[in-house]
Amino acid sequence: MKNTRLPVRNPLRALAALLLALPLNALAWGPQGHRLVAELAWEGMTPAARAEAGKLLAGEPDPTLPGIANWADELRAHDPDLGKRSSKWHYVNLAEDECHYDAARDCPNGNCAVAAIAAQTAILADRSKSQADRLQALKFVVHLVGDVHQPLHAGYARDKGGNDFQLAIPGEPERPGGYGGNLHSLWDSSLLNTRKRNDAAYLAELRKIAVPTVTGAGLPADAAGWAEDSCKLMLQPGFYPPTHKLEPGYVATWRPLAETQLRLGGEHLAEVLNAALAPGR
Ligand SMILES: [Zn+2]
Repeated sequence: MKNTRLPVRNPLRALAALLLALPLNALAWGPQGHRLVAELAWEGMTPAARAEAGKLLAGEPDPTLPGIANWADELRAHDPDLGKRSSKWHYVNLAEDECHYDAARDCPNGNCAVAAIAAQTAILADRSKSQADRLQALKFVVHLVGDVHQPLHAGYARDKGGNDFQLAIPGEPERPGGYGGNLHSLWDSSLLNTRKRNDAAYLAELRKIAVPTVTGAGLPADAAGWAEDSCKLMLQPGFYPPTHKLEPGYVATWRPLAETQLRLGGEHLAEVLNAALAPGR
């Protein structure tokens, strides 16, 4: 490009332009997936639940649900102890037993997504707990309900939910081993990133997806049911690509499922937050 001169008279605009030019973050659902689930949940919350969430969030740098949706994935950096203690709360591996959840076997000491969602929701709902404890619980619940809707967060233990399934993904920088990612990272982020949508534009798309509403019949009763349903999705033929090089057809076939899961995650999260923050209203 010939004209690379930055508009120095407006450094903020120059910075914004630079940030927009950067590739979408390919890290761990990834940051955008979690934000979208949180946005959708907020839209499904009652005024009373929103007011209560707003009180808990008041002191946060970004006092919104999407603003705290990725906190649990960033714990390793800002609270390594809690990060380590909660590292198993992000998933529950169910695929080896055809997606049947057995608490004693799959969730020893309550260290899995299913039990963590229940435990953190109980803290969030308990008005005798401190604001700080309830805020932390809110951060976990918003994140973990999103996680259990990513099919590979309920996958095989033997390949760490697809993390060990190396995959060359077009557009992802290759690593020394020759792969740009793995099946888990594809489903966390890369699949969604192929849309190249900002949050607002992506939300508009997701709202069009029809899922059962919070008052509708047929919803899984709890996080175990959501995880079992996620697991059944990843057991479908073709979910694991036939080779370790991602073919273009994969995105077209599977991205709609990833997007439906975001939408469903938002509905379920709203349901959980309405019950915990404003029971009976
Ligand atoms: Zn997570």
